[in-house]
Amino acid sequence: MSSLQFYNTRTRTTEKFIPQHEGEVKLYTCGPTVYDYLTIGNWTAYVYWDILVRLLEANEYKVHRVMNITDVGHLVSDADDGEDKLEKGARREDKTAWDVAKFYGDDFLRGMQRLNLKQPEYITKATEYIPQQLELVRTLGQKGYTYQIDDGIYFDTSKFPTYADFARLDIDAQKAGARVEFNQAKRNASDFALWKFTPSGETRDMEWDTPVDLLKGDATRKGFPGWHLECSAMAMDLLGTTLDIHTGGIDHIPVHHTNEIAQSEAATGLRFSNYWLHNNHLKVDGTKISKSLGNGYTLDDLEAKGYTPQDLRMFILQSGYQTEGNFTFENLTSATHRLHNWRRAAVLRHQLHETVDEQRDNRVPAYAASQALTEVLNDNMNTSEGLAHVDRVLGEVLDSTASYIDPRALTEFLQHVDNVLGFELITSTPDIGDNAKQLILERRRAREDKNWTKSDILRDTLATQGITVRDTATGSLWEYK
Ligand SMILES: [Zn+2]
Repeated sequence: MSSLQFYNTRTRTTEKFIPQHEGEVKLYTCGPTVYDYLTIGNWTAYVYWDILVRLLEANEYKVHRVMNITDVGHLVSDADDGEDKLEKGARREDKTAWDVAKFYGDDFLRGMQRLNLKQPEYITKATEYIPQQLELVRTLGQKGYTYQIDDGIYFDTSKFPTYADFARLDIDAQKAGARVEFNQAKRNASDFALWKFTPSGETRDMEWDTPVDLLKGDATRKGFPGWHLECSAMAMDLLGTTLDIHTGGIDHIPVHHTNEIAQSEAATGLRFSNYWLHNNHLKVDGTKISKSLGNGYTLDDLEAKGYTPQDLRMFILQSGYQTEGNFTFENLTSATHRLHNWRRAAVLRHQLHETVDEQRDNRVPAYAASQALTEVLNDNMNTSEGLAHVDRVLGEVLDSTASYIDPRALTEFLQHVDNVLGFELITSTPDIGDNAKQLILERRRAREDKNWTKSDILRDTLATQGITVRDTATGSLWEYK
């Protein structure tokens, strides 16, 4: 089998995938900040990383995966300015930040199920890893990477010489550009907060005592973790110092991931992740998704318009993960048709036992079709080609005379498509009941008797049960409407 390869942001090249331990993959996915419903733009990333897990498993890797839920510390600006998104959400809804995190965190988990996303081995909430995060601050302090200013404990990026490498940042330009805006108490524009203090005179819903040994002077301060720190602390606590793959959105490269790398590698002296995979953005009608435009559709918005989460999955996978996607309802509708066509082929497996001729050569689909799908996806998760492959295989099945179709090979192929692409073709296409089968039989007899009136009545009865019948040279085949 062709080997698995990915475009690695760290090296800017496509590389053969080699994990640290044979047969095992340590994978970290940056998860959502749970202060609002996820939009289709957010879900796009999680659908792609679901394919990554499925593909690794198809290549017989055991996947140890951590996905975080950011429920504290992600400020309105990805840098260290502005309000905490959770505290802002709490004010908007007149709830506590804890309630907001619980509500949208649960909604995220439900959304994962609706989209048939594989459950990671660990889903970790930042608020449940505060001691590990403080320990990382402590280690960095002991190694001389931190300093304290009035609003928090910061990482001194000038002490980490390779800071700019990952994102190929131009630090001088950044300094010049940031001079006006950045917190003047910071030593360098790119320095970031590991631990922020609750401003004096204020109380936050989410705050913790800062251990006294981390503080300069003898004042006690309440505080909360920086968003970047959370990912490093949880990833290393559960997966060890070096990950095989770290995933996230391309917008995370210059700040969030750059900072994760700096603090993790400064603490351990080891590489934080061997492979970094980044998904591109989704636009809607050619424009960026934004609150003000009201184009940040949720799963509920799509369902209200008659689309299923599986339709969205199909839409997303039509583009590769590195391609900028463009969502329109027209594109979503065409994805819906594509999925419908796959299901038309999937229901054939219930109808072929009588007609299949095991002795025939050139039966479809070929048993090699499943393997070929994995091979296409192995090339940097090429989902658009993967879908085209499924189109070809199932298209051939739909175009074939029933006696050429091998129901066992078809079932096996559908199962494989479900495993690697997550479409639930098998469970979404159950057999019809005996009553409907009886009606189809009666309709066929009526047609043989040229009793068109009766045949039409039976066709209409079947239609009310969501079943249509098409007549072929070798018999009648049913499908879902
Ligand atoms: Zn992260």
